[in-house]
Amino acid sequence: MELQQFSLKGKTALVTGSSRGIGRSILLGLARLGANVVVHGVRAGEAAESVLAEAKALGVEAQFVAGDLSAPQGGKACAEAVLAAVRQVDIVVLNASIQVKKAWLEQTPEDIEGQLRTNFIASLEMLQVLVPPMKENGWGRILTVGSVQQKKPHPMMLPYAASKCAQESMVRSLAVDLAPHGITVNNLAPGVILTDRNTDALADPDYLELVKSKIPAGYCGESDDCAGVAQLLCSDAGRYITGQDIYADGGMSL
Ligand code: NAP
Repeated sequence: MELQQFSLKGKTALVTGSSRGIGRSILLGLARLGANVVVHGVRAGEAAESVLAEAKALGVEAQFVAGDLSAPQGGKACAEAVLAAVRQVDIVVLNASIQVKKAWLEQTPEDIEGQLRTNFIASLEMLQVLVPPMKENGWGRILTVGSVQQKKPHPMMLPYAASKCAQESMVRSLAVDLAPHGITVNNLAPGVILTDRNTDALADPDYLELVKSKIPAGYCGESDDCAGVAQLLCSDAGRYITGQDIYADGGMSL
């Protein structure tokens, strides 16, 4: 194995939800390997600007595309906007998601639909647009970001956990279909990773201790704990890995 097999020079990577958190770390990890990058978020703003600046400082091309993936056909619209901005997407990381923490009996139709749209339907819509040109090119990498909740669903997040399971099922179907075309499809499932999403909840010391007691490694992860996995799965170093569900969770799923 040569380090050269990790190089992404000449490739273009789109990471949804890369204005912050795990998506930001994955996008910068791919840029460090030489990929040109498309930063995505619901809307432009300071967070997206700072990722763009950090990626450009690594010497790669970087641009921002906005898109609300919870809107009907939001995935299709977003993928089309990306292809209008860059000629080819070689690597797509489907990372954006929304999560509504409520008892399942209290989840409204809007809560349920918003989570299923953003976390699953939009992923499928995006791939319907982005995969045909990848197939023509004979090379591609698709990485979805799932969750430890695929194995250990939180009682207050039923639609969220179900949406991640649906996405992982999509990964296994597509991996078989796309393997002959040089395209790998995998799912990266994080455990508890410190991001904006859980800052408030984990600020409660009792809750933090409870969460840590469920993680064999004994601590919460950082966004960068997901970046190395993405670097492997999105490069030629990972060309023989497809259809897999890989946990970056300190052992929490066990
Ligand atoms: P985060 O910090 O909450 O960031 C969410 C990102 O998604 C932002 O870039 C946000 O864009 C974008 N986004 C939110 N709603 C969107 C929508 N409707 N349409 C398009 N983009 C949208 O998230 P994170 O904690 O890094 O999580 C990243 C991924 O890891 C998610 O799939 C999550 O389910 C998964 N995950 C996280 C954890 C964890 O502990 N953090 C654990 C397991 C799995 P704006 O900046 O424009 O709002």
